[in-house]
Amino acid sequence: MQDPSLSVTVDLEDWYHIPSVCGSPFSVYGGVDDFFSKWCHRYDYLSEPAVRVLDLLDEFGVTATFFIVADLLNHYPGLVEAVAKRGHEIACHGLDHSCKIHPGTREPLFSRREFEERTNLAKVMLEAVCGEEVVGFRAPNVLVAGWILDSLEKMGFKYDSSVCVNSLYNKTDSDLKGIFSYPYHPMKGALEPGEGRPIVEFPWAYLDVFGMKIPSSGGPMLRFLGSSIIAKGLEQSMARGHTVFYFHPLDISQERFPKVGRGRPLYWAVKGKVVEKRIRSILKKFQYVRKVTLKEAYMESKG
Ligand SMILES: [Zn+2]
Repeated sequence: MQDPSLSVTVDLEDWYHIPSVCGSPFSVYGGVDDFFSKWCHRYDYLSEPAVRVLDLLDEFGVTATFFIVADLLNHYPGLVEAVAKRGHEIACHGLDHSCKIHPGTREPLFSRREFEERTNLAKVMLEAVCGEEVVGFRAPNVLVAGWILDSLEKMGFKYDSSVCVNSLYNKTDSDLKGIFSYPYHPMKGALEPGEGRPIVEFPWAYLDVFGMKIPSSGGPMLRFLGSSIIAKGLEQSMARGHTVFYFHPLDISQERFPKVGRGRPLYWAVKGKVVEKRIRSILKKFQYVRKVTLKEAYMESKG
């Protein structure tokens, strides 16, 4: 068996890319375009922490996979270009971070055709920046379904990294039986493992404590639970096979994000210096672990 390996992934999005602000059934705006047509205050809370994340990755010698909301290209001149210039993999995090399935019912919020048109536009926009084929996708809010993977495969994506198996929540249309924390080929029309299919799913890490699976890839869990559970979960998941660590540049922002609708979402209640320290401690702990981008991990899976 090959040495354990880890992919460091970064979701590049701003504070308003959350379901209660853009593109969900309970959103206070009709989407990112509607938000920009009405918002008359400062919107960019992303550029400053994103540049610090690039420096942090350089400091630890990590080449990461960035899942990027393509719409950022219209509002943050030079930011995505800076990510590409530092040699990181550019992957797709949707056109504008709207939910693709209903967070409550898991019913599709877009037709297959609409989803494919919008995602293809995002892919083409990102490819124009990096000059390479964009082959990876992560579903906004990791709300993912079997039909989404079918469409991604049709559009030429080689992998997805959205499935998070755990005992606390399930944001998919599937019961996720038979899925662990290592890469697999999903069956057609569903997320469960199948055979003879090109697209690969890179599921997230979890920590198994007496059968209770605690999500431990990073993100909100890193903000709310701290770094030791995440580190233990990554370690345990790497013993099963290749796994994924992720965070957002917003996680290390020290600014207060604007209030929208019913108030500041709890989602970003913990962030800033304390989370930067946690990200540093994870990168330090695993500094000698073999790191590959998800595109490289996909290539390795093909032998
Ligand atoms: Zn996201």
